[in-house]
Amino acid sequence: MSGNEMKFVQEAFDTNWVVPLGPNVNGFEKDLEDFVGEDKRVVALSSGTAAVHLGLLACGVGPGDEVLVQSFTFCASTHPITYLGATPVMVDSEPDTWNMDPDLLEKAILDRMEKTGKKPKAIVPVALYGMPYKADRIMAIADKYGIPVVEDAAEGFGSKYKGRVLGTFGRFGVLSFNGNKMITTSGGGALICPDAELWQKIMWYATQARESYPYYQHEAVGYNYRLSNVCAGIGRGQMTVVEDHLAHHKHVQALYEELLAGVPGITVHSQPGGGDYDSNYWLCTITLDPSLRIKGQENAYKTIVKGAVGGAAGVIHMASSAVTDCQPNDNVEALRVLMDQAGIEARPVWKPMHKQPVYKGVPAYVNGVSEAIFKIGMCLPAGPYVSDEDVRYIVETIKGAIEA
Ligand SMILES: *Cc1c(COP(=O)(O)O)cnc(C)c1O
Repeated sequence: MSGNEMKFVQEAFDTNWVVPLGPNVNGFEKDLEDFVGEDKRVVALSSGTAAVHLGLLACGVGPGDEVLVQSFTFCASTHPITYLGATPVMVDSEPDTWNMDPDLLEKAILDRMEKTGKKPKAIVPVALYGMPYKADRIMAIADKYGIPVVEDAAEGFGSKYKGRVLGTFGRFGVLSFNGNKMITTSGGGALICPDAELWQKIMWYATQARESYPYYQHEAVGYNYRLSNVCAGIGRGQMTVVEDHLAHHKHVQALYEELLAGVPGITVHSQPGGGDYDSNYWLCTITLDPSLRIKGQENAYKTIVKGAVGGAAGVIHMASSAVTDCQPNDNVEALRVLMDQAGIEARPVWKPMHKQPVYKGVPAYVNGVSEAIFKIGMCLPAGPYVSDEDVRYIVETIKGAIEA
């Protein structure tokens, strides 16, 4: 944290606003509104997951409904669908952006209407690792069938498609300020809303849905989802350096692209050319050719991993086996282990939701793209503290791990 964050946090204590409302929350929302533009209104919330939840709720998603969601994502895109008693319908990705395939989306809409006699209630595309989805095509399909879009831009804060900030195309846009995201409030999120009316609705649900009586009168079920004024102080400080963060992530990506360009069997995942895409490169990702030999890969998956990916806080279940029926290739796991031994935290890419045991049996429209990338993909460090020297060290470690 810099002095800017400390100043706003100190102010929260000095003025006794240590509650989930106050000047920092209002100021942070204003900063976010200025940043995303397009005359949007923003509600600051306790997490990005809460933002997905309330966005779907305000689209009318309820028990028995279906929601079309990008399968290649973190579980926070899909779990809130089940909180509402609805069913996620998984839609696979396209190879260039790794995001929701618009053709498959339309096929899924038509097939769901034929099979269930009902339209899906919402569409959730995801800006994977910051990469923009084809927002214009997804919006055109959504509009054609009259289905609202909740953009999951949690990883894509500041990414643009055709010059417009992600999260401002759909009815709602989700942002996350978790510790590892583009900017952080330690934990937090926000929902971008199209107008004052929906902004008010979201605010109402986020503050326990209260009626204006001198006592607590409830006519609907609400949530305690508002962001704390202390955390919003961190957010206000972070907003003063957001452009630096964005520039840094793009710089790190460019350096990986340059230094890994000549390495056979390694491909850096980059945005499509032509100028439509402006990814924030929240995380830099590579893919490993299945034929690439990594030192020690014959020993991959021989032991049960004890920790959880992501250094998860709280309780994690012990893995019951060293392998599952869908996992990264041996060379990817071997590279992850070698990097870990060199003090570098590399991770597999998200495991597609249609391959997750918890979503076994839900409808899925699959073309094999996300599963194939899951087997060959890897995320490389890209945060604000990753220096040029670190990137060189990481690239040298990768080169040294390849069998001659
Ligand atoms: C981080 C993230 C979220 C929101 O997560 P929180 O940790 O609850 O803020 C939602 N979707 C995706 C794709 C994410 O990566």
